[in-house]
Amino acid sequence: MSLEQHYTAIIGQLGEDTSREGLIDTPKRAAKAMQYLCRGYQQTLDEIVNGALFSSDNSEMVLVKNIELYSLCEHHLLPFIGKAHVAYIPNGKVLGLSKVARIVDMYARRLQIQENLSRQIAEAVQQVTGALGVAVVIEAQHMCMMMRGVEKQNSSMVTSVMLGEFRESAATRSEFLSLIG
Ligand SMILES: [Zn+2]
Repeated sequence: MSLEQHYTAIIGQLGEDTSREGLIDTPKRAAKAMQYLCRGYQQTLDEIVNGALFSSDNSEMVLVKNIELYSLCEHHLLPFIGKAHVAYIPNGKVLGLSKVARIVDMYARRLQIQENLSRQIAEAVQQVTGALGVAVVIEAQHMCMMMRGVEKQNSSMVTSVMLGEFRESAATRSEFLSLIG
């Protein structure tokens, strides 16, 4: 069965009349939307980075703040939405500016839990750049918390992963945390 046919079955199971005018094209649209939201499965790190790695003497922290993040929780298939902050300390190589955001997007566009997403982003940046350290903080609001269950409308979840110098040096870590506010 195609994704579209599965959506027809789901809508019917929910108690709807799947032949009603407003719903006729819904399974097709929903299938397309879901494929878009999960397009990260079709991407690889190599393809995303595409050689945009440059030599640099800079050994100061590189920080990309407030990267918009849209993902789906793997427990409920509901969105979680927020921001990622990613920093690394170069070890001879820096990554093209937009690439950090594209790495975040590739992993976010899969079924996720926030903890794993943070770790996958940190490890990818580490792997690609060979950095001396990588830090990732994600703040996000989870629709599965806000729209159902406990219905905590304003709770947001913060996760962080620190690798290398960010883990070993309290000064580096606190510089990063103060820069992201
Ligand atoms: Zn959930």
